Amino acid sequence: MTQMHQVLPTVQEFVHRNHMHYIHGQWVPSVSGQMMDDENPSTREVLTRVARGREEDVHQAVQAARKAFQHQDWQQLNPNAKGVLLWRLADLMDQHLVELAQLDSLDMGMPLRQAQYGTVPMAIDHMRYMAGWATKIEGSTIPVSAGKFFNYTMRQPVGVVGAIIPWNFPLLMAVWKLGPALASGCTIVLKPAEQSPLSVLRLAELITEAKFPPGVINIVTGYGPEAGAALVAHPDVNKVAFTGSTEVGKSIMHKAAERMARVSLELGGKSPNIICADANLKRAISGSMLGIFMNQGEVCSAGSRVYVAKEIYNQALEQMSEYARRLKVGQPLDPRTQMGPVVSAEQYQRVLDYIESARQEGASVVAGGDQMPEAGPGFYIQPTIFSNVQDNMTIAREEIFGPVVAVMPFDDIEEVVVRANTSPYGLAAGVWTENVRTAHYLAHRLDAGTVWVNAYHVYDAAAPWGGFKESGFGREMGHYALELYTEVKDVWINLQ
Ligand code: ADP
Ligand code: MG
Repeated sequence: MTQMHQVLPTVQEFVHRNHMHYIHGQWVPSVSGQMMDDENPSTREVLTRVARGREEDVHQAVQAARKAFQHQDWQQLNPNAKGVLLWRLADLMDQHLVELAQLDSLDMGMPLRQAQYGTVPMAIDHMRYMAGWATKIEGSTIPVSAGKFFNYTMRQPVGVVGAIIPWNFPLLMAVWKLGPALASGCTIVLKPAEQSPLSVLRLAELITEAKFPPGVINIVTGYGPEAGAALVAHPDVNKVAFTGSTEVGKSIMHKAAERMARVSLELGGKSPNIICADANLKRAISGSMLGIFMNQGEVCSAGSRVYVAKEIYNQALEQMSEYARRLKVGQPLDPRTQMGPVVSAEQYQRVLDYIESARQEGASVVAGGDQMPEAGPGFYIQPTIFSNVQDNMTIAREEIFGPVVAVMPFDDIEEVVVRANTSPYGLAAGVWTENVRTAHYLAHRLDAGTVWVNAYHVYDAAAPWGGFKESGFGREMGHYALELYTEVKDVWINLQ
């Protein structure tokens, strides 16, 4: 049951291609000739095979990116023309929106309706937003007191970017890197996650169609410790842009330090989501459940620690359980599906182990708590809610990256601030209250790169995104993203 009859003929044809690396505008096989399996998580079957890149393939791609960076076709392309190229790519993505959405859905289990109406349109918006920035990267003039000088700054592209992205939002994560890197004038080698390379490979075809100069964008597929590590270690990569686990992020930072390569890291999270006693409970419940179960909980900013004021705790817990039980879990391509399977056998086992550890440590299951074979042959896990969770339990501390939430009561605001901030992570936080003072107070106090008040999981190309503490550093999206891909140069002109 491959589900191929449910997707567009162009998608069927694309999936079964011989997938190679995209280097200097050409499709090239791995030097070793090796391939790796790419699985469909809703069937556990091999969907297709993709080139398994290693150091020598990465080297070719970095060389192509370096050549393109220095080539007049890119260097002399004026900012307006760069913006036009990015916009043209966004238009092509728009024309192929359903295809791209189906590819992500097949490849990693994202519900099609989320891909088609949420994630892929967001990727297109982001590309357009960054197209606009190509003409707006300005410097400043600085009134210095050191003498009679005209002092000004300019922003220059950092050079060749090595970008490594995760499997949870394959196309969107690619665009978060490509958009600002290209708007800034960099060239790039992108390594998609081994679990979900297909939408990015399809994007490469659109990149050719948009007529980017060869070598400006290169894609190498492969495993993290092989292709990923080679990209991080390559001496000619000026900047590494990484989204993924905190563990791998730390190792990348170590390696990049050896040659002082620039790094930006968007890593894990264990985001607190606080429901105050005066919250609009109906909105708080549905928002908080979206906050944990969207994309099967495979979101770095998932609201996986829900703190509820004790006055409304029992009532909230009951309504959350009701919500979880009603959630439509099933085949991702089914337009009614709200939650799909988790991405892989490894992730499936990890999440089930976390559920088991929570039980053993004394937490109580109020909804779900098990695998879900009735949803299909894939890696389905029930939307799971735990109560009786202590702050020091594993499920309250570690990132699960699955549909599992810990719901805990709190007594007062000061207490919940301390508990919310007692985490090595600091990516996002949610607050539900009708009191304006409480809203702003919590927004000020929480250690998080983003705080949502009376909302969860809202994103915009113009709004910065990134973490405090071990959730990483650097801000993607908005004009902040351009800082990650440019160097500031300061110029002194002697006026004497
Ligand atoms: P997850 O555990 O969610 O898969 P990872 O951090 O392992 O997150 O993976 C995110 C991305 O980082 C993927 O593209 C993966 O291939 C890559 N990756 C994994 N290990 C390494 C590594 N040692 N060096 C560079 N990239 C890596
Ligand atoms: Mg896959």
